[in-house]
Amino acid sequence: MRVAVVSDIHANLPALDAVLGAIGSVDAIWQLGDVVGYGAEPDAVVDRLRVAGVTGVRGNHDAAALGGREIEWFNPEARAAMEWTRNTIAASTRAWLAELPERRTEGDALLVHASPRDPTWEYVTSVPTARANLAHMHELDARLGLHGHTHVPVAFVATAKGVETIMPADGASLDLAGRSALLNPGSVGQPRDGLPTASWLVLETDADRATWHRVGYDVAAAARRIRAAGLPERLAARLARGL
Ligand code: ZN
Repeated sequence: MRVAVVSDIHANLPALDAVLGAIGSVDAIWQLGDVVGYGAEPDAVVDRLRVAGVTGVRGNHDAAALGGREIEWFNPEARAAMEWTRNTIAASTRAWLAELPERRTEGDALLVHASPRDPTWEYVTSVPTARANLAHMHELDARLGLHGHTHVPVAFVATAKGVETIMPADGASLDLAGRSALLNPGSVGQPRDGLPTASWLVLETDADRATWHRVGYDVAAAARRIRAAGLPERLAARLARGL
């Protein structure tokens, strides 16, 4: 099976459309949460995902959009965007988000937003955190942990020598060779690794290989829509910097 894995779309329709156009032929698309928040087109993004038959999980922004107390932990700009999102989204968008589980199992892969042991909040940015989560996955009989939340493409792979960290460039492939790993596709709608291009990965289950991809999109259009919606200026400006 060939699966496109996307995360942190954040209501950025131009970025999502660029990714959907670049994905090519796949058997499935899995999304890892934060479909909404920050960006200006939550309803259109959810419509696209619904039409494409995308399955996935709920992120902290999606939970907040449904009225969750997650909003209390947001910084002022994220909070302003979330209050706008809550007041803006259609009932059909709310219903679609409400169906998303915190965790989803697909074969030997576990899909979560943040981390396997804390699907809502934990940032997997260090080897000790990755090691603890790989151990948690082992208890759940999951070999691969697919997660987002940090908006940075990265892999943490369990090897004989310990946990190896890999920062994949555009087009980089990782042969998993039966090993356990945490795989982060990076962010479609608000990348934070200094590159403004949308990021995702393709998982080939038979070859047991993950390949990361980037694609440029109309950043100016996404920024324009954020400003037109009256959302905080920084949420528009940061897209061009990839931060
Ligand atoms: Zn996010």
